[in-house]
Amino acid sequence: MQKPNRPDVVQVALKIPFAQHLDYQLPEHLSTPPVGGRVLVNLGKNKTVVGIVLSFSDHSSFSKLKPIQAILDEQAILNEADLTLFKQASKYYQVTLGEMIFTALPAWLKKTANKPIPLQKWWRTKSTLEQATERLQAAPKQLEIYQYLLLHGPLTSQSLSHISSSASQICKQLAEKNLAQAEELCLLANEAPYDPGFQLTADQDAALKQLKQAHDKFNVMLLDGITGSGKTEVYIQFIQNLMLENKQVLVLVPEIGLTPQLFQEISQRIKGQMAVLHSGLSDGARARVWHHAKTGLIDVVVATRSGIFTPFKNLGAILIDEEHDLSYKQQDGTRYSARDLAVLRGKINDFPVILGSATPSFESLNHAIGGKYKWLKLRSRTNNNPMPSITLQNALNNKPSKGLSLKTLHKIESHLANGNQVLVFLNRRGWSPKLICNECSWIGTCDDCDAYLTYHKHLNLLKCHHCDRRYTLPEFCPGCGSQHVETLGVGTEKIADGLSQHFSDTPIIRFDRDAVKTPKHWQNNLEAVRSGNPCVIVGTQMLSKGHDFPLLSLVVVVNVDNSFFSSDFRATEYLAQLLTQVSGRAGRADTKGEVIIQTQFPDHAFFHALFDQGYESFAKSQLTERQEMQFPPYTYLAIIRAQHRDASLLDHFLNDMVVFCENNEQVSVLGPLPALVAKKQKLHRMQLILNANQRKALHLLIYQLKKQFNDKSIQWFVDIDPVSF
Ligand code: ADP
Ligand code: ZN
Ligand code: ZN
Repeated sequence: MQKPNRPDVVQVALKIPFAQHLDYQLPEHLSTPPVGGRVLVNLGKNKTVVGIVLSFSDHSSFSKLKPIQAILDEQAILNEADLTLFKQASKYYQVTLGEMIFTALPAWLKKTANKPIPLQKWWRTKSTLEQATERLQAAPKQLEIYQYLLLHGPLTSQSLSHISSSASQICKQLAEKNLAQAEELCLLANEAPYDPGFQLTADQDAALKQLKQAHDKFNVMLLDGITGSGKTEVYIQFIQNLMLENKQVLVLVPEIGLTPQLFQEISQRIKGQMAVLHSGLSDGARARVWHHAKTGLIDVVVATRSGIFTPFKNLGAILIDEEHDLSYKQQDGTRYSARDLAVLRGKINDFPVILGSATPSFESLNHAIGGKYKWLKLRSRTNNNPMPSITLQNALNNKPSKGLSLKTLHKIESHLANGNQVLVFLNRRGWSPKLICNECSWIGTCDDCDAYLTYHKHLNLLKCHHCDRRYTLPEFCPGCGSQHVETLGVGTEKIADGLSQHFSDTPIIRFDRDAVKTPKHWQNNLEAVRSGNPCVIVGTQMLSKGHDFPLLSLVVVVNVDNSFFSSDFRATEYLAQLLTQVSGRAGRADTKGEVIIQTQFPDHAFFHALFDQGYESFAKSQLTERQEMQFPPYTYLAIIRAQHRDASLLDHFLNDMVVFCENNEQVSVLGPLPALVAKKQKLHRMQLILNANQRKALHLLIYQLKKQFNDKSIQWFVDIDPVSF
C-alpha cells in the first residue's frame, strides 16, 4: 500500500553552533508543519526550544529521532527568499543557519510559550474633545470610542468591543481623521499628503531619474550627497514612486534617535501605513511590526540595524541612510553588517538598494569608482549656501581651560550674540578621562579591565566605561599616599560646566549617554534646540549623525588628536567622516557656517588633504594607499577574537592557531595581538588578524579553524569584515 503523502523526518534549524539542522520525527497526531514556521522540540537532556522548519525527508542518518513537540505556526513566518537570505548570510558570517535566524527573530517569536502577538493599543491624538465633537457630529459611534479612549486609553480594540463589535474598524477611521493613533508604530497617514512643492535641484533630478530607471531590478546606488544637498527629498520621492506600484520600502538609519525625524519627514508625504522598528519598542510591538510588514499592511518601515531581517510581503527597495556609519555592524554575537546584508537581500529578491551618505565608506566608494555601484552625486546645497569655513586652531598656543580656549569662547560669544546656536563636539563623556597622582604618576585604572577610570563629577565617583564598575574617589594616592591626586583631561561634563560658568544666561544642552538616557530625554533636548533660542549644544558621537539643527552656525571640535596615534588603518577614514559630518551641521540655514578645530597638530597633512581637496579626493588618495599596503577594500579581513581569564592559556591557544595557518599561502596571519581593550571584566582579550587577497581562501581557512579548534574551554569568535580592532 502507498504511504500517505506525509514526511517522517523534519529538519529543524536551531540556535546551536554545531549543526546546520537537527532531524526530528513527525508524530502521528501532528499535521505537517510549514517550511519557515516555528516548532517546539527537545534539545539535549530536557530542554525545550524553538526551531524553524527547513525541510522534510523520508529518512535520517540518525536512529531514534525525538518527536516534534508542537507546531507554533500554521503559516510560515519566513518565506523561501527569507530562508535563502539566512542561508547565504550564515555561510558568509560563518555561523550556523540557526544561529543566523535566531539573531534575526524578534524576542517574542523566540519564546517557547506560544502566546499570540499582543494586539495593538490605540490612543487618542493631541486633539481636543471640542475638535473631536465638532468633527464627529455625524459619527456618534466614533465619538463614543474617542471619548472612551480619552478617559481610559490606550486600549486594544478588543477591550473596546463592548462599545462596538467593529471597534477595530472605528479606531482606524479615527486614525484617518488624525483623532486616534495606534501605539507608536502604525500611523494611518494623510488622505492628502503634504507637498512642499520643491523644484528639484539639477543633481536631485538626475539622481531621481536614475533611481526610477533602475527601480525594478537589483542594483546598488550610492547616493553621495553633501550635507544639505537634499538626499531625504530624493528618498521620499523614490518611496512615493515605489508605493504607486504597491511596493513596500525598508529604510535603515544608524540609531534610534534618528527614527522619529525620518519617520515624520516621510509620513507627512505619503498616503499609507508606516512603522518604526528598533530596540526601544516592546517585544510585542516589534513582533507586530514583523507581522504587519509580512502581511503587507505596512508600506514603509524605518528601522535600525536589526530591521534588515524584517520579512515583507512585497519589498521594493532598501534605503540605507548614512551608510558609512559603523553602527550598521553588529559588534557582538553574530557580527553581521546590515548594509552588506541589504545588498545581499537586494540581489536575492531582485530589487534596488540605495546607500546614502555625505561621507561614503571607502568600501562603497571603491565599488562606485569601479562601476559596480551606480554613483549618484549631489554636490550643491538646496539653499545654495556655501560650505562652512574651517579654522585649525593651535591648541598649544591657545591653551584651553575646561576644554575651550579663550579664542574659541569669544567666537562662541559672537555667534550667540547674533542669535545663533553653537555645537561643541567632543567624543568623551564624563568630567575627565583620567585621575593621576602628581607625585608618583599613579593612574586610576579599573581592576577588571585594561582601562583608565573616568571621573564623573555629578556622581562624585570614578567609572569604568568598559564594564561600568564604579569606584569611590580616593582621598590619598593608593600608590604613595600623597594628597596630590588630580583629574586630567576633559569630557563633556567638564566642557558643559565651563560653558555654563562663562555663559550663565544661555542654555547649555548636553547630548551624551549620561545626559540622555531615554528617548524622552532625547526628545526634550531636541525640542529645546529646535525652539530656536541661542544655546550651546555639547555632544558626543551621538550628535555627529544626521541630526538637522537649522540654526547652528558654529561647530567647535575638541580633541580628535588621538586618531593620529591609532593603530587602526581605518582611523583616518573615520576621522575624515566625523569631521565632514560635524562640520556639515554648521550653516544650514541662512548664515555661513564656521568650524573651529582645536588641535595640537594644525599642520598635519591629514587636515590639508581633507579640507583643501574635499572628502572625495581625500578618499581616493587614501584608497591608493590602501591598495599599496594591501588592506581592504583591496583585500579581505577577518579577526579571530578570543578571551579567557588566563592570559598565557589564551596566548598558547592562539599560537596553536597561528601554527595551523602557517602553511596557508593565501592568507596572512598577524598576531596574537592584544585587543583594543586588552582586558574586560577580568577576561583577557587577544586576537588574530587574517588578511587575504581572495575571500574564498579566507572563508575556507576559517571553516577549517572552526573544525579544528572547537575546544570549548576557550571562548572565541570570528568577525568577518571587522570595523574595529
Ligand atoms: P541632506 O540629507 O542631504 O543633508 P536634507 O535632505 O536634509 O539634506 O535637505 C536639506 C533641506 O533642504 C531640507 O530642509 C529639505 O526640506 C530642503 N530641500 C530638499 N530639496 C529641496 C529643493 N529641491 N528645494 C528646496 N529645498 C529643498
Ligand atoms: Zn602617588
Ligand atoms: Zn572595567
